[in-house]
Amino acid sequence: MVFDSIGSSALDWAGKTADDIRTIGERDGSILVVPVGSIEQHGNHLPVATDTILVDAIAHLGAERLVDDVPILVTPPFWSGFSPHHRSFGGTITLDFDVMLEALENICDSALENGFDALLLLNGHGGNRSLISAAVSTIGEDQSDVEVLGLTYFELASQFVDDIRESEIGGMAHGGEFETSLLLHLRPELVREDDMEAQMYDEPYELGTKDLHEGGPLSVYRGFEEYSHSGAIGAPELATAETGERIAERIGDELEALLTEIHERNA
Ligand SMILES: [Zn+2]
Repeated sequence: MVFDSIGSSALDWAGKTADDIRTIGERDGSILVVPVGSIEQHGNHLPVATDTILVDAIAHLGAERLVDDVPILVTPPFWSGFSPHHRSFGGTITLDFDVMLEALENICDSALENGFDALLLLNGHGGNRSLISAAVSTIGEDQSDVEVLGLTYFELASQFVDDIRESEIGGMAHGGEFETSLLLHLRPELVREDDMEAQMYDEPYELGTKDLHEGGPLSVYRGFEEYSHSGAIGAPELATAETGERIAERIGDELEALLTEIHERNA
């Protein structure tokens, strides 16, 4: 059955009654996590929902470690994103920037009526980053009693990923070693290991972004067809399930520490 997984975790907003949600929201230091994903092409070898699948898994991985001690819930993932730069490949379902910002505001404003002390927008898609920052500002301005926070999960790996990666800088870009390893660990049945075609991309601007984990201060807009024939960038051929497991564990540690800090600061 398709809907088996919705609400199956003790953390899931979707499996609770309205009363359960209010009871959790009204406890001291309560946290609401809203995973934000995207549906966009990820080359020949990864599914279009890669970002949504991964951010939902990471949200659960971090929050599950605290569920006995901290009042915390995770909403269903917001499954579309801001991805116009992927459209030429097909398979992409994107939103206008303003529409997505307003949708996130509506979702969070109504969810926060249940008494939560903190909100974490946990993002899984590079193209959503500026949108998440904007949502933190607009929701935060409206919700003066709530600690409103935003984070792109793969940035949690920037401090330790050099100990784990096989690829050079550039190898952990869109559909590269990082995302492919995580999916090989979490959802191997969705990875086409016999069709991994990706290109390394040499960002011409010294101050531009080289990788998911090596970002310069300069923003650049490019369609993905400028980066790659397949739509993937990086070195997916170096990905392994073991690497994915190590990344997931370390990100779980980082997220656990952050959620604990959020809880303690707002209790
Ligand atoms: Zn993405």
